[in-house]
Amino acid sequence: MRLILLGPPGAGKGTQAQRLVQRYGIIQLSTGEMLRAAVAAQTPVGLKAKDIMASGGLVPDEIVIAIISDRLDQPDMARGFILDGFPRTVPQAIALDDLLKKKHIRLDAVIELRVNESALLQRVESRVAEMRARGEEVRIDDTPEVLAKRLASYRSLTEPLIHYYSERRKLLTVDGMMTIEHVTREINRILAAIGAGEAKAANKTPGKALRKAVPVRRPARGSKTTAKSPSKTGGKGTGTSRKAAKVSGKAGKTTFRGPKRSPGKAAASTKVSAAGRARKAVKKVTKKRAKA
Ligand code: ADP
Repeated sequence: MRLILLGPPGAGKGTQAQRLVQRYGIIQLSTGEMLRAAVAAQTPVGLKAKDIMASGGLVPDEIVIAIISDRLDQPDMARGFILDGFPRTVPQAIALDDLLKKKHIRLDAVIELRVNESALLQRVESRVAEMRARGEEVRIDDTPEVLAKRLASYRSLTEPLIHYYSERRKLLTVDGMMTIEHVTREINRILAAIGAGEAKAANKTPGKALRKAVPVRRPARGSKTTAKSPSKTGGKGTGTSRKAAKVSGKAGKTTFRGPKRSPGKAAASTKVSAAGRARKAVKKVTKKRAKA
């Protein structure tokens, strides 16, 4: 099973990723964790990333793409993986598409954990308090100021991925405001519904299975959620006007977003230049590796 977890800081990606790891025996690839390890070990990548991460900025694409590309080549990836924190921008998503294509790996689904933004600060504050209570080292970017920057960066750079993957019929949206247990159950249920676990054995793509099995019904957009309407996001958001196939029997929990209306001209041209940049980054990484 090969998944991407998408959601703002504090959405519960790490918690759910761990549960998926346990249930399916797949590997969690968290670029945040990998970068923090690199910072702690003071590797050249860590030295480059340290200040950027502390301020809530994004580490250059070239670095994260290279880290992911290397990791995907490891033998323990055979059973599958969950990407957490990558891709974080459209160019990174395009680069990932290229990498997966080159490595003949198929992505099963992208799970978006949708949460109410007003709950995030409190969640991160609780996480910090719990870590302190356990005597663990607290992330230096888990402060209200840096969190605000990380959230802004999520909104402007990462949220467009919701549109990106919904267009490619990969997106599954889960209500991340439910309890941890409920979210886990919901994720497991939708993965079963799309046959992600069995997809390899059956030698068919879950996308195809899903198109057959799931009736197209109204999208499940909770009014509590914070994703912006298409008008606010220049057509890149997750609007209610779009068709979405509902995986869930219960209302308002999970949606599978199918192909949508074509993006505007501006979005299309951004995509082209982003694609160019991403391809360049992948080429650079491949070249470097060939040299080495
Ligand atoms: P968050 O809870 O903000 O999602 P992460 O642990 O995923 O935290 O990431 C922490 C930091 O690591 C980010 O703020 C960023 O500086 C860096 N980082 C992680 N993944 C990426 C990525 N894909 N691209 C660029 N920077 C990244």
